[in-house]
Amino acid sequence: MSIHTPFIDDAPISTLTDWAALESPTRAVDAINAMASLVEQAAGDALAGERIAVAGFGDMLILRGGPQNGKPPGLLLGHLDTVHAIGTAATGLPIRRDGMRLYGPGLYDMKAGIWIALQALLAQTMMRPIIFALAPDEEVGSPGSRAITEDLARGAAYALVLEPAREGGGCVTCRKGVGRFEIDVEGVAAHAGVRHEAGRSAITEAAHQILKIEALTDYAQGLTANVGLVNGGTTVNTVPQHCRFTVDIRAPTPQLCNTAARTITSLTPITADTRLTVRGGIARPPYERREANVALYRKAQEIANTLGLPFHEAPRTGGGSDGNFTAAMGIPTLDGLGADGAGAHTLNEYIDLTTLDVRARLIAGLLETL
Ligand SMILES: [Zn+2]
Repeated sequence: MSIHTPFIDDAPISTLTDWAALESPTRAVDAINAMASLVEQAAGDALAGERIAVAGFGDMLILRGGPQNGKPPGLLLGHLDTVHAIGTAATGLPIRRDGMRLYGPGLYDMKAGIWIALQALLAQTMMRPIIFALAPDEEVGSPGSRAITEDLARGAAYALVLEPAREGGGCVTCRKGVGRFEIDVEGVAAHAGVRHEAGRSAITEAAHQILKIEALTDYAQGLTANVGLVNGGTTVNTVPQHCRFTVDIRAPTPQLCNTAARTITSLTPITADTRLTVRGGIARPPYERREANVALYRKAQEIANTLGLPFHEAPRTGGGSDGNFTAAMGIPTLDGLGADGAGAHTLNEYIDLTTLDVRARLIAGLLETL
């Protein structure tokens, strides 16, 4: 006797296995473009495909479907890149099925989300024209594709983002803004044994600034400042001339983002004869929990209920997505609509196969009614 699972026809598993096997980290331009081709192939003739070259990255893939009825389009957002280096499938994260879990690099974040959106688009029951935009550079903050996404979003009725669901099916109605900065400190080099007093340590100066920057962290307000990389000095017996460090800030409102950014860009040296150069700024504006986003969530919740799909609104976390761009433009945005699963950005990344098909039906239901 065979045991019937709620879903599983093998076609999606073999497609997703192929997609995971084509490992596509952000900087692997050829792999990103090959991934775009696989998605185009899966879309077949039903959707019109367009590729836009993004300087320094692979192509942005844009698929268009739905009736050409003059209504403002709906926008679906996804990305072709993953955080996993090529070779991850052969070593740390082999592609394998274990019960109703499918493991593999980039499946949860977010190749299975692409598959879900594609099924919904191929169902061909849309209220309006639909644009599905797939960025090549999302995992590094979408520096190259941001302007394209924003162009596509102008005048869109809504944006649905196929980033992974929060574990247990949670969707996302808000995200923090993200700021990235790189700070160069220039001091004065000297022999540490012979002329120590003539030196001005770039590392000491960086240490002062790092403490000031990290003191911006205010958990009560949801603001965090993290110095994640520091690089400085040449030898143990030299007063260091150079030090460079990077800062990541996360904050839930534009005010908090901008205040923190201003503090960082206007830092001044504490040590005499040292110099600071600050580059960077707000990479992703905050995606605030506006009523229009919550209304989209309620609509999705209704459809999920009729499908018997566990669904809820997840609390805000610090991770950004391309939904930050559309939300900040005032486009009603609902995110976390991709696959359920866990382990994004880790070697335990997997998707939950039991809800894959029903989550595609949820997106189809949204495209039908929105
Ligand atoms: Zn993602």
